[in-house]
Amino acid sequence: MITPDTRQLEIIPSVNWGEESPFKRGPLISINRKDAPRNVIGNYGGQYGLYRAGADAAGRIPSNFIPDYTDALSPMTFAIRQNENWQGVNCIASFDPFGHLVPKHFSGLIAGGYNIRPTIAITSGRLNLPEIHGAVAAGLLKPDGDILTDNNRINVTKIAIEPGWHLPGIAKYYGRDEKAFREGIYYGTGESYAALVTASDLNVFLPAHGETTVYVIGDINKLGDPDVEHAARTHDKCGSSDTHRANICSCAPALMWGYEQAVLTAQSGGVGIIVYTEAEGRGHGVVPKNLVYNARLAGEDRPEDYFPATVRMTGIEDLREQMIMTDVYRWLGVNKIDVWLSGSPHKTNAMKAAGIQIAADADRPVPPDRMENDTGQTEWAAKMLREYRYAPRLQSTTGSGLVVPAA
Ligand SMILES: [Zn+2]
Repeated sequence: MITPDTRQLEIIPSVNWGEESPFKRGPLISINRKDAPRNVIGNYGGQYGLYRAGADAAGRIPSNFIPDYTDALSPMTFAIRQNENWQGVNCIASFDPFGHLVPKHFSGLIAGGYNIRPTIAITSGRLNLPEIHGAVAAGLLKPDGDILTDNNRINVTKIAIEPGWHLPGIAKYYGRDEKAFREGIYYGTGESYAALVTASDLNVFLPAHGETTVYVIGDINKLGDPDVEHAARTHDKCGSSDTHRANICSCAPALMWGYEQAVLTAQSGGVGIIVYTEAEGRGHGVVPKNLVYNARLAGEDRPEDYFPATVRMTGIEDLREQMIMTDVYRWLGVNKIDVWLSGSPHKTNAMKAAGIQIAADADRPVPPDRMENDTGQTEWAAKMLREYRYAPRLQSTTGSGLVVPAA
């Protein structure tokens, strides 16, 4: 165990968000103990930060603990190349673009006892999805031994990204001035982060917000290459459908359709991207979502009642600010999407507002007819009433519900 040199901790590097050099930009230093130095508001770990705080409060973590990141950075960590969206006044605002390189750039400060953590981590894996087995059995996907293995696993690069808000930039996403936005967040979080209103010199906030995960299918080195076809879907988490294949909504079929298309694009020399965010229930979370389900099940479950039920209980249809999710694509250096696998006008408009080109002919609709005999059909129909684009361009259903686009 290394004992931190507490004399060094009297020097607090500043954060200069938007600086091109990670060293000039500076590390994000979060407070984790009384009297510790900091240059940001909030805590590392996103939604998990409180677990660590609880364990700390219970004295379960050694007070002089220094993390050791030996062998923790995979070679893929360095495949994501710095681009113009990492710096400048209009750079990424919702997470630290240098977050994966923290152990490389700031090992000295970490060893010295500063609370600096990586906020991005990149690794690899294989996905084993029942719908993909179904698609292979039906002859709709073919294993190639690389992108899709001979036993139908999808090889992926997995990226986890914790939030880190540059408050001036996030306020701009929300269309508010920074001071008003900081006050709003302060009161809206039960006055949890006093520094939002008392420390105007600190303009980076690590919110207790869920992390984003990204699954890249195909060669990660091709990301952002203008000559390479990119297929992409941003999918907001639905635990009951994505993980448990619950029947009342349309989430898992849309996600699986995204994976199928991403594999096809990667197999033809392109690259597929699935961005998975913690914004369940349009950002409302699972409790309001389940209450709305109850209202649906108690009534006639009509599409025109679907969104009004949410508004009746929460005051707003949708809590998501979609500009935030565009940061992932900008970080990856992806400036155009050839195959955009989303039917949401909110997501599509945000991508365009972020300067990401969506090829006109790539705007493939997500299938509406997959849920024909299921309660999920109500959600599809409700979204179509809100100008989601789900044209019936599909011809068959296979496996546990994968819908296959018409040729
Ligand atoms: Zn769902």
